[in-house]
Amino acid sequence: MHDLIIIGAGPAGLSAAIYAKRAGLDALVIERAPTCGGQVLITYEVDNYAGLPGINGFDLGMKFKEHADKLGVAFAEGDVTSLSCTTSGDDHTAGQWHITTDAGEYDTKTVLIASGADHNKLGIPGEAEYTGKGVSYCATCDGAFFRNKVAVVNGGGDVAVEDAIFLARGCSKVYLVHRRDALRATKVLQDELLSLPNVEVVWNSVVTAVTGDGNRVGAVTLKDVQTGEERSLETAALFVAIGIHPLTEICTGLARMDENGYLLAGEDGVTSAPGLFVAGDARKKRLRQIVTAVADGANAVTAVTDYLVGKA
Ligand code: FAD
Ligand code: NAP
Repeated sequence: MHDLIIIGAGPAGLSAAIYAKRAGLDALVIERAPTCGGQVLITYEVDNYAGLPGINGFDLGMKFKEHADKLGVAFAEGDVTSLSCTTSGDDHTAGQWHITTDAGEYDTKTVLIASGADHNKLGIPGEAEYTGKGVSYCATCDGAFFRNKVAVVNGGGDVAVEDAIFLARGCSKVYLVHRRDALRATKVLQDELLSLPNVEVVWNSVVTAVTGDGNRVGAVTLKDVQTGEERSLETAALFVAIGIHPLTEICTGLARMDENGYLLAGEDGVTSAPGLFVAGDARKKRLRQIVTAVADGANAVTAVTDYLVGKA
């Protein structure tokens, strides 16, 4: 029986693990990806994490993991497929939780959901067929395949704009397709994007289909949302960057969530289920960033500690 099991080894989970170890808790981190670090691993450059300007995302993820390793944090590899509270009725105060993964079973007094978020899909014809053949959700991972070629990025947030800036360094031309006439991304990113000579923003438009020869993307269909007009745009790649959704399915029916699946909790990470805590992108909050995920992890462990000693 562990004191705490942390599900996910992104910035929130690794920060929580560091705080848990220093608090003397018997904590275990379960991560399903072969490499710990979370979404940060696919970030080309992180320029807003205090003290480490311009650090490569993969390097930052490694630093978090090395810090946890140095303190002796325990890790287990596995995809958590179900979570249940083993106390009966409304009495969750014994706080016994059972976790099933594809690699084993665990019992714990408390659980911290630090499972983060994953990218959204467009759900248009050709998207699934051409995934890995020109359709991608990670410019940092796949951008190099499209050197000196045309690429389309879909979305108007930080990720889409960062992707377009990154791709513009190697692609001959980058189209950023956005469904409105204003970007959601941070001003500093917008300014950089709009200064690039090989980037063109296609405003008020959505991507409605991906086509190709069966092996590779050849074009996307764009629809102007104001006029309804459709046109084909030749491209070798479509990078989809239309937001994220929380990975909280395992908590369905256990704790309160909003309509998008984000777990409801304050900064202390206390959910509606006693003994169940949340930190990072999986929590309903205003700003989903590395720094807020790291802060959430620290705050949640403070709440876990209070809970375990009966203060909460
Ligand atoms: P995540 O990083 O998503 O980590 C969650 C972990 O949980 C993952 O490793 C996942 O594999 C694991 N997991 C999920 N479900 C399970 C399960 N069932 N069983 C076991 N393990 C599971 N933020 C910034 O501050 N600055 C930036 O420059 C920046 N750039 C970004 C660029 C991109 C391309 C993206 C996608 C995001 C960027 N962000 C940036 C946002 C930042 O990465 C996130 O806010 C942060 O990673 C959230 O941390 P987290 O620990 O909550 O979740
Ligand atoms: P986001 O901020 O939610 O932006 C998603 C974008 O996609 C929005 O512009 C949205 O349009 C558009 N969109 C959503 N659904 C669409 C659809 N079906 N079709 C077409 N367009 C659609 O998501 P994100 O850019 O992935 O960022 C995720 C989180 O990571 C954010 O919290 C972000 O701040 C953070 N992040 C931060 C940094 C950084 O600080 N440098 C870098 C990367 C990511 P509308 O604008 O019209 O809604």
